Amino acid sequence: MTAIPELWFDPSRCLIAGEWVKAAAGTLPLYDPSTGAEIGAIARGGATEIDAAVTAATEAFHGVWHRTPAVERGRILTRLGQLVLERVEALAMIEARDVGKPYKQARADAVALARYMEFYGGAADKLLGQTIPYMDGYTVYTLREPHGVTGHIVPWNYPMQIIGRSVGAALAAGNACVLKPAEDACLTALAFADLAKQAGLPDGVLNVVPGLGAEAGAALTAHPGLHHISFTGSVATGAAVQIAAGANVIPVTLELGGKSPQVVFDDADLDAALPFLVNAGIQNAGQTCSASSRILVQRARYDEVVEKMAARYGALRVGPAVDDLDVGPLISAKQKGLVSGFIEQGHDLQLAGQATLGDLPSGGYYVPPTLFAGVSPDHTLAQNEVFGPVQVVIPFEDEAEAIAIANGTDYGLVASVWTDSGARQMRLAKAIRAGQVFLNNYGAGGGVELPFGGIGKSGHGREKGFEALYGFTTLKTVAAFHG
Ligand code: NAD
Repeated sequence: MTAIPELWFDPSRCLIAGEWVKAAAGTLPLYDPSTGAEIGAIARGGATEIDAAVTAATEAFHGVWHRTPAVERGRILTRLGQLVLERVEALAMIEARDVGKPYKQARADAVALARYMEFYGGAADKLLGQTIPYMDGYTVYTLREPHGVTGHIVPWNYPMQIIGRSVGAALAAGNACVLKPAEDACLTALAFADLAKQAGLPDGVLNVVPGLGAEAGAALTAHPGLHHISFTGSVATGAAVQIAAGANVIPVTLELGGKSPQVVFDDADLDAALPFLVNAGIQNAGQTCSASSRILVQRARYDEVVEKMAARYGALRVGPAVDDLDVGPLISAKQKGLVSGFIEQGHDLQLAGQATLGDLPSGGYYVPPTLFAGVSPDHTLAQNEVFGPVQVVIPFEDEAEAIAIANGTDYGLVASVWTDSGARQMRLAKAIRAGQVFLNNYGAGGGVELPFGGIGKSGHGREKGFEALYGFTTLKTVAAFHG
């Protein structure tokens, strides 16, 4: 077993009430996706640790955090952002080992985590209420108040970014948090919590309980001491989380993934579009909720787009995270099985392009990035989220058909439109059902300022930007009668 050299804390413990504690059920093994080798152990948190964490958060909320001035909350988050920046290289190395993410992509996640702390640190004291003109003799105003104790269930694909946008906003708004990271990737969550302690976050305001979804996750969502849940992950688990939250009548934010299209019209600047068409599908080995897995191309440019995308697929380099190539391994043997199954389901399609897997560590969870063409919009590969480096190209005739195909899945997270026509850009931006629409780009660099979230099976509620702060508060109306 090779330990991860960059770790400065014991990864086999939970952080509860400021103390690093062992889980009653012991530990779970930790694997390196690049090699399949066992590289350590993490805590197997469960109901006992979750209960202790919710109790600690409740005490910290009432005891100190709720009364900490917004400007001071902001200062702590800003200091935390600075500490994250000072540890960027270590955090990136940890994430690369834990998630199998190529180093540069892991580093970008660490920088984004710092940026979330800067943004929410700066925003903490700018969360304003309103005064409302009302009847003579009254003064009416609104207060934005924290929910109290918020639960955060995070997946394995972008731990640092998702913790940044969810926990960062919740803390800025004055909530105390219990974080349940994914069992496949929890190391940077623990590292982040340790840095938060160093930045001066009072004990108990942020508690981290790693463990299995069915154990620690289910215990957290069912806990009656929680006042809000933020969940990112699969549709099935999200639905279960919403039902559990319903039993306690608390609000949930669900971010559940997508089948996001890029729509390429015949007047598009293809040279500008091409890098985005492919990168948005293969970044993080396609394990991205906002991955673009459907490329819709107007008939006149269809052959040209397929040919150029296929050439890029042929040139993609796949390898271990530390080699920092274009595509790393998938997160787990389970995910490799799921994605390989999807690729097999494309046997009736045109295999337009595929990367070659070279000499790779035999135990690693690699699949070849794969491009299918000639795909009908109702094919299973055009309807279901693969969560791997697989894209389909679908032809369309005109604008009406493009809109119908773009909107023709259960999801609605992100979309982009490539066209020179300003009028068409405006029409498509309105017609497409998605939480974010990009015109002549994809992702806009992932800015922390930009509200993000879905409709349909992509979920509900908004993260990032100021919208997230509103979601982590409850609005109180105060009506004073003074005659
Ligand atoms: P998942 O939904 O099972 O897990 C996500 C998180 O939820 C993890 O922390 C997990 O421990 C927790 N969890 C699991 N069961 C739970 C339960 N019953 N109660 C509370 N929490 C629970 O997702 P997964 O198994 O990690 O991945 C499966 C699929 O989910 C992927 O193929 C992909 O389609 C989707 N996914 C989406 C995103 C996204 O960003 N939208 C991220 C990861 C996975």
